[in-house]
Amino acid sequence: MPGALQSRPVTIVGGGVAGLTVALALRRRGADVTVLERAPAITEVGAGLQLSPNAMRVLDALGLGPALDALSLPSRAVRLRDASGTEVVRLDLARHRPGARFRLIHRARLIEVLEQAALSAGVRIDLGRTIETPPDVPLLIGADGLHSRIRAALNGREVPFFTGQTAWRAVIAAEDAEPEAQVFMGPNRHLVSYPLAGGLRNIVAVLETRDWQDEGWSRPDDPANLRAAFAGFGGPVPGWLAQVDQVHVWGLFRHEVAARWQDGRMAILGDAAHPTLPFMAQGACMAIEDAWTLVACLDATSDQETALSRYQNLRKPRTASIVAAANDNARNYHLTGPKRLAAHAALRLGGRIAPGAILSRFDWIYDFDPVAETP
Ligand SMILES: Cc1cc2nc3c(=O)[nH]c(=O)nc-3n(C[C@H](O)[C@H](O)[C@H](O)COP(=O)(O)OP(=O)(O)OC[C@H]3O[C@@H](n4cnc5c(N)ncnc54)[C@H](O)[C@@H]3O)c2cc1C
Repeated sequence: MPGALQSRPVTIVGGGVAGLTVALALRRRGADVTVLERAPAITEVGAGLQLSPNAMRVLDALGLGPALDALSLPSRAVRLRDASGTEVVRLDLARHRPGARFRLIHRARLIEVLEQAALSAGVRIDLGRTIETPPDVPLLIGADGLHSRIRAALNGREVPFFTGQTAWRAVIAAEDAEPEAQVFMGPNRHLVSYPLAGGLRNIVAVLETRDWQDEGWSRPDDPANLRAAFAGFGGPVPGWLAQVDQVHVWGLFRHEVAARWQDGRMAILGDAAHPTLPFMAQGACMAIEDAWTLVACLDATSDQETALSRYQNLRKPRTASIVAAANDNARNYHLTGPKRLAAHAALRLGGRIAPGAILSRFDWIYDFDPVAETP
């Protein structure tokens, strides 16, 4: 019975990527949607995002394709390099998956597009509303991120653990550059960079360290610390780091995927359900997939308990696999000594004789189509 969402009131806690995407998708199916966001304005930290085809299929189905295309760059390849800058392998995304949409975008631009579309569609966004305990409404969606109150209400108190990795992120001004992501892999550290529309370049640099940082987004750091940690890196890295005048740092924590995503009245999605390390660039993409599937399940039947239980069953195994793949990537990027030499040699050889095989390892992530799966 598609159409079960017509005129149903839905309350969403959190107006990030997950909250705004689910709000828009709900509104497109006729629901009466209110978003409660604790920030006084919808704003975003300065950082980039890679959007892969699995998420772009949802954003396109929501009608956002042209607006996003105008504000993002296509991502043609991922170039893996060693710390000196020497290329290990170039993975040609465009050739391996012709027509698939990999895009590089500033987070603030994605949020603006989502917010604008949600408001135009008739979503109400209440700012300055910090939700400590779940409001008593018939359908409540928790999109309140890493430290979700709604997840805690469903699962009780959980304690994440520090991974021993610290990450810096920065955006610098940049000349036009090849639209591709570059990953520089050094012992116990790596740096990822890609260009963004509007003459910008995004940098994420990860270092294994015993220093304990707070988990969160916005602790400013001295750019000299970033430069010191990556002082041995070559190629374009020293030039990029010399340009960094503002940088934020945070500790990377591991969380389990939530055991319980819903109770028939409340449901969670995005980082609230499955925070991930950033090493597969899939956190926001999974949130966008969740949003589509949650809304399709709710629209298919007016039996809310059945809908939310189907949503959890469809989403939990896939997101758990992606989170596990991100955990593995951290190890692969940071190899040291002979293991590192052997792994890079294998990648070089693989890149020469069967480049498609390296990329095929991730077909299950990028070829997934939430829209076809749950119409
Ligand atoms: C360095 C880095 C690089 C990344 N790169 C990528 C990438 O390339 N591709 C990708 O797909 N993902 C990437 N991610 C992951 C992605 O940014 C996150 O997974 C995504 O932003 C999660 O969205 P969310 O809406 O679930 O949570 P959030 O973005 O955290 O939004 C939660 C919202 O809820 C609000 N909120 C929180 N608590 C309350 C409350 N109590 N009451 C009311 N409102 C509340 C917050 O203010 C916020 O607006 C990256 C992450 C990092 C750290």
